[in-house]
Amino acid sequence: MSTYNKPCIHCGERIDGDSKYCAKCGSRTPFGFICPNCLKPIERGNLLCSGCGRKLTVNCPLCKAETFVGSGKCEACGRSLLVKCENKRCGELQFFELTKCTVCGKAIKKGESVLIKMYKKEMK
Ligand SMILES: [Zn+2]
Ligand SMILES: [Zn+2]
Ligand SMILES: [Zn+2]
Ligand SMILES: [Zn+2]
Repeated sequence: MSTYNKPCIHCGERIDGDSKYCAKCGSRTPFGFICPNCLKPIERGNLLCSGCGRKLTVNCPLCKAETFVGSGKCEACGRSLLVKCENKRCGELQFFELTKCTVCGKAIKKGESVLIKMYKKEMK
């Protein structure tokens, strides 16, 4: 069994080489970037996803800066761009722009406004 440690690319925490997610920052892609839509590996600097063709940048709904979609957070303001799936048995974090959960398939309604609400609460 390969249990050597590798650093998480998002937070730098050294975690088990075959981990499915980082226990420190919660990223489900600790060793590489994946498309939030089709879950294929993507590379920073590419314009479009080779799997589904979506743009690999998005304007952050919170600070409006353009950011890379692969890290699950805005690289300008550092806020998470993930919303929790409404299916209580699923609860996976999903990219706010998606229209359905990549894990259970449940529709994601108004991911963007959920995200904005989330941070409004936090700022109070
Ligand atoms: Zn991490
Ligand atoms: Zn894709
Ligand atoms: Zn931002
Ligand atoms: Zn789900």
